[in-house]
Amino acid sequence: MEDELVRRCADTGRDVLVVPHLYHLAHESSLWVELAALRGRVAVACWMPPRPAEWVLREHQVEAEIATVVDLGAVSDAAEAFEQLAGALGDGTGTGEVTRLEQAVRERWYPVLDRSRCIACRHCLQFCIFGVFEVVGRDVVAARPDNCKPGCPACSRICPEGAIMFPMSDEPAIAGVPGTVMSPDPMARRMYYVRTGRRCPVCGEVAEAGELAALPDGVAACEECGRPLADTPGRAAEGASAVFDEIDALIDTLDDLAAGSGSGTE
Ligand code: SF4
Ligand code: SF4
Repeated sequence: MEDELVRRCADTGRDVLVVPHLYHLAHESSLWVELAALRGRVAVACWMPPRPAEWVLREHQVEAEIATVVDLGAVSDAAEAFEQLAGALGDGTGTGEVTRLEQAVRERWYPVLDRSRCIACRHCLQFCIFGVFEVVGRDVVAARPDNCKPGCPACSRICPEGAIMFPMSDEPAIAGVPGTVMSPDPMARRMYYVRTGRRCPVCGEVAEAGELAALPDGVAACEECGRPLADTPGRAAEGASAVFDEIDALIDTLDDLAAGSGSGTE
């Protein structure tokens, strides 16, 4: 599909820059300098949804005006991709020159932050035990992306603003597919309070590990941290959601990895 798309663009007077996969391209790659030097309007075709693609580009100081991003995984063929690119850019005004910036890449897995949604609450930073996040000025950034553990999307489940995307995820909302935004998972939010030991700003209490399981019917819980409210009986030990199980297993794995004794999620 890619070669056919390049040919169509070049044949219609559009200059084309072919680069390695934008998500997998190493953060320290020299190619980012060349991409950051781009000016004017560009249209991007890549193998990930538009929202994370734009933020990957912005994270690397690419300031060119992005007319559109076409997810090659969401179109049926090169003709459809070309229609979308050409529709956004208008008539070709270049010479049809094709430039290829080659560089070997390896598959990567790391969080992409949507800065238009992030409120710098630092929950991801407090939650992740691998030092992926850091505060830079007033922003929270994924400063050490390759510390992230492949297959772990836990921070995207706890982010209260749906700002964390993993574009290679099979889950549309986590991947940042158009029309979706990740909602914080209630069970994952409970994990956040237990894991960090932080006091809940709503009920004012600190949740404990034993309070993580799902509540039986009729038992009121804090809407933020999920603790049973003071005048209600204890919780049922069973009935936790599938997501809770998944997050719990992930966290066990991460703890093992952190301790240097686990087999990992790769
Ligand atoms: S948890 Fe979400 S909103 Fe809060 S700092 Fe992290 S990315 Fe931003
Ligand atoms: S996915 Fe897991 S390891 Fe990666 S940044 Fe989020 S919490 Fe940390």
